[in-house]
Order: sequence, then C-alpha cells, then structure tokens
Amino acid sequence: MYYKEDSIIFYNGKFIKASEATENPYSQSLHYGNGVFEGIRAYNTPNGTRIFKSEAHYKRLKYGAEVMNIQFNYTEEELTKITYELLERNGLKDAYIRPLITTGADMSLVTSNETNLIIQCWEWGKYMGDKLLRVKTSSFQRPNPKACFVEAKVTGHYINSILSTNEAKQNGYDEALLLDMNGNVAECSGANIFMEKDGKLYTPPRGHIMAGITRSTVIELCREEGISIEEKHFTLEELKNADACFFTGTAAEVVGLQSLDTYEFPLAWEKSHGYQLMKLYKDEVLGLRQKRKAS
Ligand code: PMP
Repeated sequence: MYYKEDSIIFYNGKFIKASEATENPYSQSLHYGNGVFEGIRAYNTPNGTRIFKSEAHYKRLKYGAEVMNIQFNYTEEELTKITYELLERNGLKDAYIRPLITTGADMSLVTSNETNLIIQCWEWGKYMGDKLLRVKTSSFQRPNPKACFVEAKVTGHYINSILSTNEAKQNGYDEALLLDMNGNVAECSGANIFMEKDGKLYTPPRGHIMAGITRSTVIELCREEGISIEEKHFTLEELKNADACFFTGTAAEVVGLQSLDTYEFPLAWEKSHGYQLMKLYKDEVLGLRQKRKAS
C-alpha cells in the first residue's frame, strides 16, 4: 500500500527506489525510538500541486531534532524543494508525505552522531475516514510534559498513541480520547479535539498536547469566519455535556464524532461548526479561500 516497485523515496541526499532502501539494524531509532518524523499533505489544487504549510511542518521536524540533540542541518526551504521534487518523481499530486529522521548505530543512551533523512510519500485518503467516529476514553493518559517534549514528533512518543488506539479498537470503537495527567481532556491519539457548546468552540490549550498545525489552521479559520473559539481546559464531564465535537489533524483533516463512550453528541453534524469548518478547511488547503479573498 505504501510503495510499489517503482516508488521513489529521498534517502540521505539521493532519490532511490523504495524497494532498494536499507536501514541499519543497530539504529538507535529502532532500539529506543530516538527519531523524529512529520506528517504532511500535498493537494492537487487548481494552481497545481501544493504542499500545505510545508514550512510549519519542517520547522516542527527541526524543533524535534533539536530537542533530541539530533544533528540536522537542512533548512525548511531545502526540505520543501526536495519534497516537491519527490512528489513529481512519483507522479503524485494528492499525497501524504512522511519525512523521518533516524539516528545511527549506537547502543548508548546518548544521541548518536549519525543522522539519516528519509522522505516518503504515498496516496492516502482521510486517515479516520469520512463517517462520524465512535470514540472511547482511553485508560492511558497523555505523557507528562516533564517526561518528554510533548510538542516534538519523536517516534518513541507514539507508543502512547499505539497503546490507546489498540485499546479503543479492541473494544469495538474507532478512536481513543486521552486525558492529560491532571484529568483534563487532552487529544486523540493522532489528532486534536474541539468541542462545541451553545454555539461556541473550545479546544485544550498547549501544554499537554501536540500543537497541531491543523488545530492552528482551524483556529485561524474560526477567527476569520467569526466563529467563537476559546483555548481552555475542560473535563470529560464537560465534554459529555457538549453539543458536538470534532478532531483535527493533517492525516484526519476535520472529522466529526458521533459518540464518546455511551454519550451521543446531540447536535446534527451538518448543523455544527465542525461541519462548516470541515468544508472551510478543504477550501483552505486547496488555496480557494486565498483566491476568493484576493478577488
Ligand atoms: N496530536 C497528535 C498526537 C498527533 O500525532 C498529531 C499529528 N501530527 C496531531 C495531534 C495533529 O497535528 P497536525 O495537525 O499538525 O497534523
């Protein structure tokens, strides 16, 4: 699904066939999860292929490398240029892009001096699909921000996401909702959360969550469209009293929730701000809003 015989990846300065790539079995990324990655989308727009917020994604990749002491010298501009070339070499216009920095062979617990950059891309529909999600509150919490850099997309951090998603799916749900160490609502295993109550939106502030680029885009869209939005902590009890709820993420885009545990969100999805924002987000990534503003 991710690659075919002729798929190309960028690997340490070269474009090579995905089927010919090799990784070191002694890599610190494999043993300890010391690597950093990104999830980016490119869209086929009326003005050609457009990588959405490439700069912001590569900035977050570089931040992750920096906090993990991983040597990484590419600039955001260089990475963006390489990614456009990669899409072209793969003949892809609508694509999910996965840059990954891995570390070298080193069994000590100090970051290896060897760094590898891999960029892959493939066609990928909306990660959580289009139908409304049935979500389970996870028994796992988001990591303590004093235990790691929660805003860095470090590969090892995703064990928490895998544990919670496995648990949700094993219990017959679509996705997991995680609370933070203080018992406040934090986020989904791979997406941020917004709830709607009495016409107003709320989303947890930064601190215990991944500061999603889609989350920022949705907040900007709310401000532009006059939808009331507040970044504020809320509890599970408050969420189970909300009118509607949705998740945001690069892979998931904007996707609505049907239920949380046994609570059914009462407002029809089509009447919620989430539905409106799902459509606005689509226009934004396709560059259609900019066009309208300019004309
Ligand atoms: N939370 C987590 C834990 C994530 O992995 C992601 C995906 N990067 C998000 C939220 C959403 O972030 P973004 O909108 O930048 O894709």
